Amino acid sequence: MTEALIVAIDGPSGVGKSTAARLLAARLRVPYLETGAMYRALGLEALERGVDPDDAGAIAELLERLDLDAAFTDDGEILVLLDGRDVRPLIRGPEVASATSRVSVHPAVRHFMVDLQRRWAGRRGAVVEGRDIGTRVFPETPFKFFFEAAPEVRAARRFQQLREAGTQAVTLPEVERQVRERDVRDSTRAESPLRRDASYVVIDTGLAGPQEVVERMLRAIDERRPAPGRR
Ligand code: C5P
Repeated sequence: MTEALIVAIDGPSGVGKSTAARLLAARLRVPYLETGAMYRALGLEALERGVDPDDAGAIAELLERLDLDAAFTDDGEILVLLDGRDVRPLIRGPEVASATSRVSVHPAVRHFMVDLQRRWAGRRGAVVEGRDIGTRVFPETPFKFFFEAAPEVRAARRFQQLREAGTQAVTLPEVERQVRERDVRDSTRAESPLRRDASYVVIDTGLAGPQEVVERMLRAIDERRPAPGRR
């Protein structure tokens, strides 16, 4: 078992992982790492440099020059920096999302990101959110959660997030189409596909709000702790 407290949260896009992970990290007093932002930074880099996301060789070359760094912020987030820049405002759009899910299939990309995630999260422990955290990045942690919700529910959530971020030029059916397309790509890729096994606690986030989800996770973590520990 890892010494630092590592909580893994996996699941498809728009299932509410980020909100719950952020709240849980604050309750556990560990940083929060959104691994999707790391893959999205690479997707953005490919778009900005005109590199084809499907070209494994070109993406491997891009990785060699990639300047991806972590900043531990005061509000408990592990902020992803691309060339020293906070790229959060640039990585949420549908174009970056599509490029990201395409770059994410390449084994070289997965190795690169997994290695960084272990180093960043391993430093102080973390709530780590993504697709393969419990299966690949931290398979030894006893604290694994898999979030599920119907594609329509997830598309509606994503649509709302895009609206709040000021993106108007996208329709709900288009978001739903993209959600389904990414589901297929994320769960059918050969390397680290999105999947769960019996070691996960499964949570249906279509039926529970973020606070309730967090309380359920805290209870499950307590039950799985080997000895009286911190909270
Ligand atoms: O979580 P988010 O929607 O930001 O992730 C964007 C994309 O990054 C996903 O569709 C997936 O292709 C990829 N990803 C991944 N493995 C992770 C996190 C994200 O492949 N651990």
